[in-house]
Amino acid sequence: MLVLVVNAGSSSLKSQLIETDGKLTVMKCIAEKVGTDQAFMNVSFAPEFQKTRYNVAGKTVEQCLAKLLEVMVEDIESPISNLNQIDAVGNRIVAGGEYFTRSVVIDAQARENLAKCEELAPLHNPPADACIDMLREMLPETPQVAVFDTAFHATMPPKAYMYPLPMEYYEKYHIRRYGAHGTSHRYAAQQAANLLGRPLRDLGLITCHLGNGGSITAVNHGKSIDTTMGFTPLEGLMMGTRSGSIDPAIITYIMRREGKSFDEMDAILNRESGILGVSGKSGDMRDALAAAAGGDERAKLAIEMYVYRVQKAIGSYYAAMTRTDAVVMTAGIGENSAELRELIFDGLAHMGMILDKERNQVEGAIGMNRIISIDDSPIKICVVTADEEIRIARETDNLVSQL
Ligand code: AMP
Repeated sequence: MLVLVVNAGSSSLKSQLIETDGKLTVMKCIAEKVGTDQAFMNVSFAPEFQKTRYNVAGKTVEQCLAKLLEVMVEDIESPISNLNQIDAVGNRIVAGGEYFTRSVVIDAQARENLAKCEELAPLHNPPADACIDMLREMLPETPQVAVFDTAFHATMPPKAYMYPLPMEYYEKYHIRRYGAHGTSHRYAAQQAANLLGRPLRDLGLITCHLGNGGSITAVNHGKSIDTTMGFTPLEGLMMGTRSGSIDPAIITYIMRREGKSFDEMDAILNRESGILGVSGKSGDMRDALAAAAGGDERAKLAIEMYVYRVQKAIGSYYAAMTRTDAVVMTAGIGENSAELRELIFDGLAHMGMILDKERNQVEGAIGMNRIISIDDSPIKICVVTADEEIRIARETDNLVSQL
């Protein structure tokens, strides 16, 4: 089955065309800085994956997707010449609320419920929904599936997902922890079980998705029992531009002192905080590491804070589980930054998570799932390459095949 995977972000679009029978990616597209004057889109096709860069300045995420469809029909390297050759579309959706605990084929009812979930992930869900609508118009006969970041966390018990607020807010507005990055945590846990050579149901794992957004999950016997992201993807770890958890009273304090509106405060917490807010330079970890190496004190502080918060989250999930067999690192920072991993695990050896500094460094190991703790480490440390698009494609194939 030829599946177009659409992963729409607040200012980015990642898309792949995947032949699920052979698990082959035949097209890759990444659009970044979408909505700005510098927006660009790189598209490449198998087997060479030579990128062609398109200027998409000023376009919205769904307009970038429309441009990608155009490119896929016109480019001579493309494996398709007609959009009807796409068998199905798999959409990554950040928040599914209590409406969706598993992936679904998008019909009218599902689309209605998707609209209700938009306020749960205001940066991510609206552009994803806009892409779904655009595709429904351009490809009315092609089935679309929604794969939710929250679904894996549907197994959390009430003591983990409830907030200590008056019960009426849960009853009226379903305010509770939903978590995110579920597709990635589920995959990381399964891959770690493969690396350890043991069934997932026998293991206690702490999966760390550390990318632009970041979250950590306690996976007990294969099930998510707690995760750091909450009602929205703002809670938990310090992130590229998101604050993560802070004293909630700070929000009303700043609003009163500075006369900020709700939308302005939302932007401060989601887009101007985190590594960007503290370093004052960039929300990108590579930039922060480079600035810190050059002696920038604020960048150094941002990295120290980032590492400390990851360490504390790992420690709290060690306490939350009945056993801990491994900590799993995945996503941009978790997979690629030996430096960050060393900083994180330097502080955790006393809990039995002992990094092998050489294995951690291995050149050319990027993209390879592996164990990077010493042989005798009571708790293993694994690195797993996030492969979100393939997972979404497979899930889409499963559901559409049953239609
Ligand atoms: P993601 O959201 O998973 O694409 O991850 C993006 C984040 O990973 C950004 O903050 C990048 O700076 C960071 N990242 C990617 N490669 C590296 C690397 N080699 N070292 C440090 N950070 C990296």
